[in-house]
Amino acid sequence: MFVFDDAVLEHAAPPRVRYLLDSLAELREWYRERGSDLLLARGDPVDVIPDLAVAYDADRVVWNADYSGLANERDAAVRRALDEADVARQSFHDAIFHEPGSITTNEGEPYSVFTYFWKKWRTREKPGPLPAPDAEALAAVSENSPPDVAGTSLPTIDELGFAEPEAGVQPAGTEAARERLADFCADGIFRYEEDRDYPTRGAVSHLSADLKFGTIGIREVYAATEEARERADGEEEIESIEEFQSQLAWREFYAHVLFYNPDVVDENFREYEHDIEWRNDPDELRAWKEGETGYPIVDAGMRQLKTEAYMHNRVRMIVASFLTKDLLTDWREGYDHFRAHLADHDTANDSGGWQWAASTGTDAQPYFRIFNPMTQGERYDPDAAYIGEHVPELRGVDPDLIHGWHELSPTQRARTAPDYPEPIVDHGERREAALAMFEAARGDDD
Ligand SMILES: Cc1cc2nc3c(=O)[nH]c(=O)nc-3n(C[C@H](O)[C@H](O)[C@H](O)COP(=O)(O)OP(=O)(O)OC[C@H]3O[C@@H](n4cnc5c(N)ncnc54)[C@H](O)[C@@H]3O)c2cc1C
Repeated sequence: MFVFDDAVLEHAAPPRVRYLLDSLAELREWYRERGSDLLLARGDPVDVIPDLAVAYDADRVVWNADYSGLANERDAAVRRALDEADVARQSFHDAIFHEPGSITTNEGEPYSVFTYFWKKWRTREKPGPLPAPDAEALAAVSENSPPDVAGTSLPTIDELGFAEPEAGVQPAGTEAARERLADFCADGIFRYEEDRDYPTRGAVSHLSADLKFGTIGIREVYAATEEARERADGEEEIESIEEFQSQLAWREFYAHVLFYNPDVVDENFREYEHDIEWRNDPDELRAWKEGETGYPIVDAGMRQLKTEAYMHNRVRMIVASFLTKDLLTDWREGYDHFRAHLADHDTANDSGGWQWAASTGTDAQPYFRIFNPMTQGERYDPDAAYIGEHVPELRGVDPDLIHGWHELSPTQRARTAPDYPEPIVDHGERREAALAMFEAARGDDD
């Protein structure tokens, strides 16, 4: 069964609601083809789940744990309600391999440095995928179902209070996820280490939304990477596979961080001596959101986010650094914007990524290491193919002029790409201002 919970929908956004509805439609079909069905209800799970369990005379209620503050509180309330209704229950830890508390320092504390976490994570045994449930058992559930307790028709996106997304979201559901996994394991995984930072090289998996929604399981993904290892040709390809596995471990690391620190979604993880005095200029924030900063790689990323509800990881790092270190804007503004637009928004990974870039998180980028958006663009998109794809005003412009946009005179810019904006800030000046802002927060000048 699936419960549409208003407390969760409050934090949702059109691309994710579309992804969710399409995934549920596929899952319901899967059950129906096997003579069963997927129950759908809307309401507070604390009321809905025990009511249904009693109406169906369920042997027990089982579910998979999630790790945000909201999920923890909800699960605890559902557990209490099921106990009161005298219904047996069991929850599993299967969204990640190793549950919070299972990988700790020798003193039993959660890790705040990824490398140590990874060293333990990689050596732990990883259970393989389980077989699909038996068709006979599924049909028996259907035969015992009392009618009218919950519906089986899906609400429309409109009924859930959302508009259709403006972005073209990638196809949702397990079948599409399995295709993405197979494509990636046929090619990208073997050159992941070398190519993953280049947005046009097609060396990343695009599995983030699938992992977030659970339309593919971590066991299945990991088993496919191990199967790719059998086919690897030499040490470099094996290292590449392990590099990918380490990204799966980052996902678990951030899930642990969130579990122990539910406030990381809106509080700095790392404490500075004083508050960070963000500048928070609304016009600059607006230009960043619209992809009109006059920094081509930043604008390309922000426009990819709008049109695809996705952004390549390297570019996420660049735009997040630009917002916090060039525009001196609080990372929470960026987190909110990503949450409103990403199909793969995940509380743990999104807050982890933002706090990393803002130098406020666990194992974060040191405050003095500030990305230069021009050299990042030149390095990771040398022929400006990614920029050209997302910023039509710069399509066909010589890549040297694109990467040197900040150095051109206003006349040269007007001649080269009249519709593309001037840089809204001077990177060199803002870099100094960012250093001063962090040093003041650290109390270096006290
Ligand atoms: C500012 C910022 C915000 C981010 N927000 C999100 C988010 O909301 N949801 C999200 O899933 N990822 C987020 N990431 C991490 C990363 O950018 C995406 O997971 C990745 O780009 C998704 O594309 P992919 O599936 O092709 O990645 P791949 O490179 O193919 O990685 C495979 C999987 O590993 C996990 N992964 C990869 N990188 C990271 C990482 N740095 N941290 C945690 N898990 C990772 C994801 O589940 C991903 O699907 C964010 C990163 C930054 C810098």
